[in-house]
Amino acid sequence: MLSFWEKNTFLNYDYIIIGSGIVGLSTAASIVEKNKKAKILVLERGLFPTGASTKNAGFACFGSLTEILSDLKVMPENQVIDLVNERYNGLKRLRKRLSDKASDYRQHGGYELITEKELPALEQLETINDLLKPSFKHEVYELKNKKVNSFGFDKESIKALVFNSFEGQIDTGKMMQSLLLYVQERGVKVLNHCEVSHFEEIESNTKVKVYVKNQLSNEQVGFSAKKLIVCTNAFANQFFSDLDITAGRGQVLITEPIKDLKFKGTFHFDEGYYYFRNYGKRVLLGGGRNLDFQAENTSEINTTEKVMNQLEHLLKTIILPKQEVSIAHRWAGIMAFGADKKPILQFHTPNILVAVRMGGMGVAIGSQVGEQASKLILEN
Ligand SMILES: Cc1cc2nc3c(=O)[nH]c(=O)nc-3n(C[C@H](O)[C@H](O)[C@H](O)COP(=O)(O)OP(=O)(O)OC[C@H]3O[C@@H](n4cnc5c(N)ncnc54)[C@H](O)[C@@H]3O)c2cc1C
Repeated sequence: MLSFWEKNTFLNYDYIIIGSGIVGLSTAASIVEKNKKAKILVLERGLFPTGASTKNAGFACFGSLTEILSDLKVMPENQVIDLVNERYNGLKRLRKRLSDKASDYRQHGGYELITEKELPALEQLETINDLLKPSFKHEVYELKNKKVNSFGFDKESIKALVFNSFEGQIDTGKMMQSLLLYVQERGVKVLNHCEVSHFEEIESNTKVKVYVKNQLSNEQVGFSAKKLIVCTNAFANQFFSDLDITAGRGQVLITEPIKDLKFKGTFHFDEGYYYFRNYGKRVLLGGGRNLDFQAENTSEINTTEKVMNQLEHLLKTIILPKQEVSIAHRWAGIMAFGADKKPILQFHTPNILVAVRMGGMGVAIGSQVGEQASKLILEN
């Protein structure tokens, strides 16, 4: 049972955001940067954000050469370029907002490992550089084949390396922790263990009421706001069953520190289905959704033997051949995909905005989607 004081003080807001991933927190940050007095509540079902934002690999990336080429097969050229620009602008916004020190941002650059089957992509390297030149004012992709040897990769499988000096890496935990602190310092209230069951428009559609079950008393508590922003990414179908969203699991492992680790940077492999990076002297490796799409299109947050075995195999044969490696930790997170790579940013009703489906590059585009969401909701 709520007290008079709780009802009076804790339940009413200007804006409620569901989901405290990078999109939910960036939306809160962008609103409060424009309106210091806004009363904002973020409701998060987990002890921590429990989707992708605290589970990811920390690539500050906007697309590898083969990813861009594969997008060009299914999307118009201007949309592919827009998407790359949005990701890059999102990264710039994130870095400016939090500072590189706070997210431990390091610009070691990114590389794509080219095997026999991707060699034809190199013929289009110049074309893609020309397409991106208006935004980056510089060649984005260049060949660095000598590094295959100095990085210690398997020379039989890796035929070339494409370098991208604009790519960086962050410490995902530090980034999300400082984003949380950033909004809390500006008066945003973030409540954890608050799973929203449903919401409804009330008072002739001038307010939205959002319901959470109180874990202790089992009663439904209704929070009210003028506007609601739903930032639940892969879990948005709970509220909107008609959205084109497929949950996709990402599995990751990280090694113990490796004595003579020969590389630094972020690495893409097999059209982005595998990715690895250094984290200090450790190697973080993830991917393998393409081994079994049916099994990996799930919102179950657990690892599987099939994917983990393949990750370990790649680690020992291609990335760190002939080296002693032991695995320190493994985990999984859930992404949101659709027929289109563009995020979904649309009004459900004039008071309810949906900002979901970040795909596999939400670190990059998340802050930009939050900014766009804030503009839409403040203008509406
Ligand atoms: C393993 C892995 C590696 C990745 N690597 C990278 C990378 O290197 N670079 C990159 O750019 N991107 C990467 N991504 C993708 C990126 O992490 C996501 O695109 C991004 O984090 C999505 O952010 P979000 O805020 O939209 O979603 P989420 O972080 O999933 O946040 C949604 C939140 O909503 C909450 N929620 C859901 N339902 C409810 C409810 N009913 N009530 C209350 N709260 C609710 C969830 O608990 C969750 O915290 C990776 C993802 C994974 C899984």
